[in-house]
Amino acid sequence: MNGNILNSNINDIKDEESSRALKYIELAKEKVTALEKELGRKMRACVVTFGCQMNARDSEKLLATLSLAGYEETDSEDADFVIYNTCTVRDNADQRVYGRLGQLGNLKKNNPHMKVAICGCMMQETSSVEKIQKSYRFVDLIFGTHNIYKFAELLNTTLESDRMIIDIWKDTDKIVEDLPVKRKYSFKSGVNIMYGCNNFCTYCIVPYVRGRERSRSPREIIRECEKLSGDGVKEVMLLGQNVNSYGLDFADNDPDRISFALLLEEVCKVDGIKRVRFMTPHPKDFSDELLDVIERNPKIARHIHLPLQAGNNEILRRMNRKYTKEQYLALVDKIRKKLPDVAITTDIIVGFPGETSEMLDDTIDVVRKASFDNAFTFIYSKRTGTPAAGFEDQVPEDVVKENFDRLLKVVQDTAKEQALKLSGRVEEVLVEGRNDHDERLLTGRMSNNTLVHFEADESLIGSFVNVRLDECHGFYYMGRMV
Ligand code: SF4
Repeated sequence: MNGNILNSNINDIKDEESSRALKYIELAKEKVTALEKELGRKMRACVVTFGCQMNARDSEKLLATLSLAGYEETDSEDADFVIYNTCTVRDNADQRVYGRLGQLGNLKKNNPHMKVAICGCMMQETSSVEKIQKSYRFVDLIFGTHNIYKFAELLNTTLESDRMIIDIWKDTDKIVEDLPVKRKYSFKSGVNIMYGCNNFCTYCIVPYVRGRERSRSPREIIRECEKLSGDGVKEVMLLGQNVNSYGLDFADNDPDRISFALLLEEVCKVDGIKRVRFMTPHPKDFSDELLDVIERNPKIARHIHLPLQAGNNEILRRMNRKYTKEQYLALVDKIRKKLPDVAITTDIIVGFPGETSEMLDDTIDVVRKASFDNAFTFIYSKRTGTPAAGFEDQVPEDVVKENFDRLLKVVQDTAKEQALKLSGRVEEVLVEGRNDHDERLLTGRMSNNTLVHFEADESLIGSFVNVRLDECHGFYYMGRMV
């Protein structure tokens, strides 16, 4: 569903950088209006997001800037301004970007007014920028993750220049509040609570492209949640690469230094916010305090995404995950005992360097013992620039494939067993939209993140309703409103 709400009362803006952004938006708007007159039609912009929830949130800011500058939003890349917000967690994500970029070049030949921009994590890697400079010369603007708040200025410069503009920063300690945001949904929203990561898992590029951990002040986070609530938002998801280390970058005597658990509790107090989610906690930092807060706050969704990545201790050590199989299982056990209605989901990587089939058996053992409600399984992808890319014992493809299939079977069986336990229950769901495949159905999300499809009127989108869970289809349910 495309929202049309600009989540920023422009008069409220206090932050100096945000005020600057608004000035540049005005300048860009003059240029867009002139182009509209010249061409006798509206100018259209398309934002394409690759990767995670953090990128999706950044894209909402890019879209708001483009909308305020006068562009109409479109899903078609045959537009006047196309921006790719890239991800670089996996090598094949890079390849997808290059593939689509090639097609964009053809579209641009037919539209001399078209501007093409690329930003996001992939642009923090010098090799990617060099490749675009060399092979995709039609790209007009390249910028990275640290200066996304400068987009309005860069947009304005791009509109007045025919040269490729490149603006990549190595790092930043700046957090810019109050940038305009055009939310995809009117009733739910992500809220960044921190940026960057300090963990350096050996397979992961994030700490190199997103920089060190920087927490937003709790007052700003609460202010944003209150504003969202005022705009009609009922569910927020607090976002960070490792939410459990929220606040640790503040000095000991800084009054802003509160734990993630306390922040979560404060967000629950915001009137009008009915459900609070968070993504992603690191198992090594999951505190008892956080469990207590979840237990006593029914607003907090009954869903914990707890990335396992591997179940073998040697692989975990080489991944630099800083927990063992036993510690992970003890944590799951503690969560299940304290919060029996919580769904636990996870991420697992198959084929990390040195992983034998016997080592994967340890991962399968964890999947069985933890009874995950769902697991996202990924084949290890070598990321240039990470320590694991230099490990010599990369696993042959056929072994990875066989292990992946073995794991997937267990993951699917376990998830189905867990989902079946909900059969016949009545659950409160937030109605998120029309079903993609059947017009008569709406789709709702339960507190534990399971989806249910049921017949109801479109006017209920954005409301909480009760649904009986009739038929389990593995990861989702068919139900009926009660
Ligand atoms: S915790 Fe590990 S996997 Fe997650 S972003 Fe940080 S380095 Fe990457």
